[in-house]
Formats: sequence, C-alpha cells, structure tokens
Amino acid sequence: MLNRSEPPSGEVDIAIIGAGAAGIAAARRLADAGADFVVLEARSRIGGRAWTAELAGFPLDLGCGWLHSADRNPWTGIAEKAGFAIDRTPAPWTAGRDLTFTEADQRDFRAAFAAFYGRLDQAAEEGEDRPASVCLAPGGRWNALLDAISTYANGAELDRVSIRDAAQYSDDEVNWRVVEGYGTAVAAHGAGLPVALDCAVTWIDHSGASVRIETSRGTVVAKTAIVTLPTDIIADETVRFMPTLPDKLDAAAGLPLGLADKVLLALDHPESVPAETRLFGWMDRTATGAYHFRPFGRPLVEGYFGGELARVLEHEGEAAFAQYAIDEIAGRFGGDIRARLRPVAATAWARDPHARGSYSYAMPGKAGARAILAQPVNDRLFFAGEACSAESFTTAHGAYETGVAAAESALAGVTRLRSRSR
Ligand SMILES: Cc1cc2nc3c(=O)[nH]c(=O)nc-3n(C[C@H](O)[C@H](O)[C@H](O)COP(=O)(O)OP(=O)(O)OC[C@H]3O[C@@H](n4cnc5c(N)ncnc54)[C@H](O)[C@@H]3O)c2cc1C
Repeated sequence: MLNRSEPPSGEVDIAIIGAGAAGIAAARRLADAGADFVVLEARSRIGGRAWTAELAGFPLDLGCGWLHSADRNPWTGIAEKAGFAIDRTPAPWTAGRDLTFTEADQRDFRAAFAAFYGRLDQAAEEGEDRPASVCLAPGGRWNALLDAISTYANGAELDRVSIRDAAQYSDDEVNWRVVEGYGTAVAAHGAGLPVALDCAVTWIDHSGASVRIETSRGTVVAKTAIVTLPTDIIADETVRFMPTLPDKLDAAAGLPLGLADKVLLALDHPESVPAETRLFGWMDRTATGAYHFRPFGRPLVEGYFGGELARVLEHEGEAAFAQYAIDEIAGRFGGDIRARLRPVAATAWARDPHARGSYSYAMPGKAGARAILAQPVNDRLFFAGEACSAESFTTAHGAYETGVAAAESALAGVTRLRSRSR
C-alpha cells in the first residue's frame, strides 16, 4: 500500500476509484498484467462493503458473509488458494434448518415461495416492467414474509423492486462461508497493491486528453480510470464528472442502494439452541428480523434486517437496534433467553458515508440501468461494482467479475490510446 502521508499525485496509465471487491479485483488483474496504476480509496481500509472485524473474539463479517453461488464464485478459489478455510455447512435457510415453522407450514411456505418466483419469471417476459409486489397472490398467507425476504435479498420491499431486474438475478443456491471472514479474504487479495488510503475522490475531469482526478490528497492524472463507486455516490454527485454524464446519473439513480444491516448478539449457554439454524421474528410481518443461531457453532446470534425496518432501527442507534432483536427472539423463545443475550455490534450501512447503503436494486422500469451504468465512456472511463453486474448484482462475486472485466477493457483502452498517439 502507498504511504498514507504521501500524496498519490502524479501520472499513471490507469486509476481505479474505490478499493472494494470490484476495485481490488481490477487492481489484481492490472498488477498481473504489469500495468502502471494506482487505486484511490476514501476509507482508511480496503474492502469497502466486504469487511470482517474481530469482535467478541471472532472474525465477524459486517458486510458480505455468504459465498453465494459458491461453486462458481471466484472468491471461493481465491480464498482457498490464500489458505483460508471454506465452510460448506448448508445455509440456515435450507430445508430442515428453520426453527420458524412446523413441518406443514414449512412445506406450505416453500410452495408459496416457489409460486411467487414462478409468477415473477413469467411477468418478466410480459409487457411493461412493474413492481415485484404485483406477483404476490392476492390475500396470500405468506405475503408479509415474502416481502420481508425481499428486504433481506434486495434491501427493499417488493413494491420498490423491478420485476425484470429481480428475474435476472442468477443464483445456483450453493452457499458457503470463509471461516476467517469473507472480508478478510477480499482484503487479503488486495494486500500489497498500490492503494492510496484516506484519499477521497471529488472530481473526475475527462474533458481533456487525460483524465484528471481531484482527491482529498492531491490530483492524479491518468490515461484511463475505472470507477467502482456505490450508485448513491454517483447519483447524488458526491463525486462529480466533468463534463457531466447524465446517462450515468440517471442509471445510478434508478439503481439505489437498498439497506440490510446486521445485529450481532453473544449467547450464553448456547447449547440450548441448535447450531446453524434460523428463526424469523414474525411469520406475518414484513418488518421483522431473520436470526441465524450459532453461526460456525459460535456462541452468537446474527440478526439480519432489511428495508424500512433497518432504516428506522439504524436511526434509533445501536442499543435500540440490539434491544429490538432481543425482544423479537424473546417473543419466540420466551423471556428467559433475554438474560443470555448480550449486544456485540450493529451495523449502520446507510449512515456509512462511503457506502450509503448495502446493495443496489433496480426500481420498476429501470432494469436496463445496469447495462447503461456498466457502459464505458470514450474508451477512457470504465465502470465496475456490484450494480454493474447483469446477473450477480448485490454480491461480492458480481463486483469481482465486473472489476476484472473493467480492468481488461482499460488495458485494451490504454493500448488503443497509445497506438493513436503514435
Ligand atoms: C450487511 C451486508 C450483507 C451482505 N451480504 C452479502 C453476502 O452474504 N454475499 C455477497 O456476495 N454480498 C453481500 N453483500 C454485498 C457485498 O458486500 C457488495 O455487493 C460488494 O462488497 C460490493 O463491492 P463493490 O466493489 O461493488 O463496492 P464497495 O465495496 O462499496 O467498494 C467501493 C469502494 O469505493 C470507496 N469510495 C466511496 N466513495 C469514494 C470516494 N469519493 N473516493 C474514493 N473511494 C470511494 C468505498 O469506500 C469502497 O471501498 C452484503 C452487503 C452488506 C452491506
């Protein structure tokens, strides 16, 4: 990494803006190609929304935790090669691990879930794009829970989410974890790369022959730039393009960041609850948490909250957030469990100035925005990040794939610019 006190000013072939999963993937590809590049990162750490912190004696993922589509997820191989342990225990939302339902209710819910996604896939083929909520069965018993699951998966309720975009998401339902933390594996992949930390980009001037990038630590001039910023930061022009890029601003605004937050609780006498199981706070409310008991067999509970409920609880603060989770768990297990639950941490991704949320969803009518956001500008600006992924949006592996693709386009762009200037 570059020395924090040394400004990153100077000229490079390629500047990468943002050192999250996409920026790190791009940077590693450029390093392998022997390219001349620098990564500019606003935070004092790399990884972005991939972040493992040591808490309560364990490496806990505060951002991404699941290697979704793990058997084809590039991070699986990267983590293994780096010596990290992959845990292949089935996810707590797989059949037989959910403490919420009776067996009959579980079957009924699974049938409703499959029918909902069947209607969604069909609706995606027909006519105009609409909110995914229109695919709920009128008066359906499980509608509130299906909506709650949308808040975890999309960070937003179904009435905000595009049918077409949701139907594009591809997942092979193999979900593994990195024991040392997904964030640890992502950061390890970035170790030793030329990253300027605490270096917030404010302007990207692409009006001249080179790209001039104004940062909190000086100006960087690059032949090309790879932009991996979260969509809200592009949409509200926290980072401005000169000349402005109305198509990009419009695309980013159509792909806002939904919100998902985690609450971590320590659990005394954990053996009374089976490891790697799940429980919803309520079966008939959208505003409810999903609780993962004893992940990796640890004496912990990970509560997952999404959408409007997460927004309200974030606003109320960490203590209120943890209390809400404890109250919901006590509502299901009985009051005695209260004394055995202790707050460890709660995330606040909406309040994080360099994220502004958790992952992108497309608003109804905006399913085409991902392709527009991913489109290069004049062979000099390339775009990557989870929101640019056509089928693996919201995920760290989607971010990875767009990062590698942008790096390859930028390398080709630099070669073309060189041959033109000869
Ligand atoms: C609670 C939670 C749970 C999740 N669970 C999963 C999961 O289980 N599995 C999964 O695959 N994904 C999950 N995700 C999503 C996953 O973490 C993200 O999709 C992925 O990490 C995004 O990577 P990225 O590179 O696109 O963006 P980011 O990681 O956001 O990277 C962008 C980088 O740009 C930096 N930046 C911002 N502004 C500036 C600026 N002005 N100048 C310079 N740098 C700037 C940021 O600090 C950041 O490092 C989860 C996310 C959250 C929040």
